[in-house]
Amino acid sequence: MALGHRTGLELVPAYKQGKAPEPGAGGGAFKLSSNENPYPPLPSVHRAVVEAAADLNIYPDMAAPELTALVADRFDVPASSIVFGAGSVEVASQLIHAVASPGDEVVFAWRSFEAYPALVRVAGCVPVPVPLDDAGGHDLPAMARAVTGRTRLVFVCNPNNPTGTVTTTAALEEFLAAVPAGVLVVIDEAYVHFNDDPDSPAGVEFFKRYPNVAVLHTFSKAYGLAGLRLGYAIAPAEVAANLRKVAVPFGVTALAQRAGTASLAAEAELQERVDVLIRERRRVHAALVEAGLPVLPSRANFLWIAAGGRTAELNQVLEEHGLAARAFDGEGIRVSIGTPAANDALIRAAAACRNALAESHV
Ligand SMILES: *Cc1c(COP(=O)(O)O)cnc(C)c1O
Repeated sequence: MALGHRTGLELVPAYKQGKAPEPGAGGGAFKLSSNENPYPPLPSVHRAVVEAAADLNIYPDMAAPELTALVADRFDVPASSIVFGAGSVEVASQLIHAVASPGDEVVFAWRSFEAYPALVRVAGCVPVPVPLDDAGGHDLPAMARAVTGRTRLVFVCNPNNPTGTVTTTAALEEFLAAVPAGVLVVIDEAYVHFNDDPDSPAGVEFFKRYPNVAVLHTFSKAYGLAGLRLGYAIAPAEVAANLRKVAVPFGVTALAQRAGTASLAAEAELQERVDVLIRERRRVHAALVEAGLPVLPSRANFLWIAAGGRTAELNQVLEEHGLAARAFDGEGIRVSIGTPAANDALIRAAAACRNALAESHV
């Protein structure tokens, strides 16, 4: 065996971080490739982090007691069910390691969050990607059929990254009725704050109703703390206990915990920013439809342009306008909602895309 090569690692795709932008023709450069919140931390959150920095010589409290109490209260769930991690991607990894043994299967929709296949492989498990339906949404009946005796966990990403689509409450209920009780269904709600579809489920309600449901939340997107790494699971108590076992000790810093408590104390203020982003999403979506781009309806803080074979060509136009988006060759382009200035640049780029499409059709 070669040095630095564990068996199976050749199957692990490396995570590709969203690209940085290069200034475009208008001089602007906008990073719309990682679904980050374009707004800097709230002053109150920033202050809490700066104050916490005075104690950097001390290990954090692994139980995150204050933050746990706030989340328990916020969602009316037992504290014993809440487990934090260094971003919800780390908690997703904990979930796989806690419930699946090497060789077990993990089902998820595809295309969905890029981290799933790699996390599953690193745990020695087998990824079972189930193609999205024609509308870019989860095909939950097909996912239920993909569950076998080896399946230990299913990810349901709602809203889905990168398509922005949502599942309905009724479809999720049918899915849970079809999935065996020994399979953990993890509802990844990284974008839940942006989901304004009343027919779409709140994961926490499903956690309360079904014994095999866990929910993933993150402070990275709506709360704008991607740089601090803070996310958590709300999971059945016995699963939560095992998440604590597989977590890397002290993975959640004291700064992240303080920023989290300060954010929950400022939820109303943060919600105003989320509301702005939702309004901007609607404005940009309408403009892209107007420009004739094949953009899907979205309930997240990004839009999916189902460009198919034109992906590279259209992404080139975006780059020329100073926009870094996330392009998946042959599939489409995910572009985050940014500041109004960034969104204006995207709308201008969309008009140029329309021209590019028109020219190449002649
Ligand atoms: C961004 C994202 C996450 C988690 O991000 P963290 O920064 O690790 O909290 C989880 N799931 C999905 C689908 C995401 O897009």
